[in-house]
Amino acid sequence: MKQILNLIGGTLCGAASGRTMADIEPATGLTYGTLADSDTADVAQAVAAAKEAFPAWSALGRTRRSQYLMQLAALVERDLELLARMESIDTGKPIALARSVDIPRAVANLRFFATAILHTREDAFITDRAAVNWVLRRPRGPAGCISPWNLPLYLFTWKIAPALATGNTVVGKPSEVTPATAEHLARLSIEAGLPPGVLNIVHGTGPAVGAPLVAHPDVPAITFTGGTVTGRAIAASAAPMFKALSLELGGKNPTVIFADADPDAALAGAVRSAFTNQGQICLCGSRILVERSLYEGFVEGFVARASAMECGDPLEEDTMQGALVSAAHRERVEAAIARAVGEGGRVHCGGGRPRGLPDRCRDGYFVLPTVITDLPEGCATDAEEIFGPVVTIRPFDDESHAIRLANATRYGLAASLWTRDIGRAHRVAAALDAGTVWINCWLLRDLRTPFGGMKDSGVGREGGDDALRFFTEAVTVCVGGESAR
Ligand code: NAD
Repeated sequence: MKQILNLIGGTLCGAASGRTMADIEPATGLTYGTLADSDTADVAQAVAAAKEAFPAWSALGRTRRSQYLMQLAALVERDLELLARMESIDTGKPIALARSVDIPRAVANLRFFATAILHTREDAFITDRAAVNWVLRRPRGPAGCISPWNLPLYLFTWKIAPALATGNTVVGKPSEVTPATAEHLARLSIEAGLPPGVLNIVHGTGPAVGAPLVAHPDVPAITFTGGTVTGRAIAASAAPMFKALSLELGGKNPTVIFADADPDAALAGAVRSAFTNQGQICLCGSRILVERSLYEGFVEGFVARASAMECGDPLEEDTMQGALVSAAHRERVEAAIARAVGEGGRVHCGGGRPRGLPDRCRDGYFVLPTVITDLPEGCATDAEEIFGPVVTIRPFDDESHAIRLANATRYGLAASLWTRDIGRAHRVAAALDAGTVWINCWLLRDLRTPFGGMKDSGVGREGGDDALRFFTEAVTVCVGGESAR
């Protein structure tokens, strides 16, 4: 049995209470390890360690901090195969996806922020001859970094890399559902020689670990990626303490396909965006809007592709659809499908659990790719995030109808548009409520760009300069000049 430990002050340790909880492999439904079931006492120790390490780490200078992070990136890259396997076992995602996306992106996150700090410019403002103002960017202190289960190492490093690079120390709280790769990262951080207390990782549930971390008075910055309901609770706790807060929350993203799109590229893009990682990416396109003249042919083509996507053992090289992350999540997804049927939806394919899985996966948490049409406008299925392999397809009449349907949700994370009319692409992109709009592509990321959502999809932006700014406090230093004396 694998034992997943906390990292506090440079030492791997169990929860102070001695309690553990089960780590379950979603593809089999079996417990394959345990993790520290930590609580407020462990959080307090981790924050104390981060606070003690902060003065030296923040004073270390960017060159040396960059070297530590580059070393950590090299170790993650060295262990890519091991980490990909861990991620696949822990999440149920196909190993090919973990190997090609999750772990390489974790390496890229570390390298990106390790080098970004070497190349940024400082701001200076010269007030005629009266003054020179320059903006000092000071790390905030111990940062609380809370991440979800869908892209575990990818999103955990997306937070801790900029935090550490800018001179903060970190108390990280990975999802209790998928803790394995964060624990391996803890081991690699020791191997990389990261000074004790610079990176601390506390495992356990959201209420027992995440909530006290958010509420801790010595943690001035909280970055959170997860569900909107959790984000709201975190905001309620952190805002009265005036903490810096970055919230990356849920999505219900539209894929909008105009009749002038390249039909093959649009179909392939819509399928990929719907079902990658079993639809468990916040950026997945779960509401597909298709111009009416294309609609019937598109639905036929989409359903043919979705029906051909078989679920399989995530550890098999050619598996494209793995398991959902937990029994509880599968129940939520199945309840959402039942609700869609109750709302009058027509299920073209999927709608339930697959047959004929390998013996090892008999009790795993699989749901087939599911395509639903004919739902009434304004239904709950099109309003609530399902976060599984379930999409709806709906026709639209013209550009303004497409925009109205696309924006008819309380989320505003991402959208993808498929059109060959460049004028329309720009017009519609500017009218959509989405933090990221992809045109004729999906999930293409330049780590320098601002990333985040509007409306109920979050507050703030991460990535590039936005992340470097989030983790630093600006101090304007005004030096009086000749005419100020
Ligand atoms: P979640 O909100 O249940 O949990 C996320 C993390 O928060 C976990 O580590 C959890 O233990 C912790 N947590 C739970 N309650 C807490 C509390 N009261 N205080 C502090 N921490 C707490 O989300 P999830 O189910 O792990 O992830 C799925 C959600 O994440 C989906 O809604 C998805 O859209 C969203 N997501 C968003 C993005 C984005 O970039 N916007 C990226 C990935 C996932």
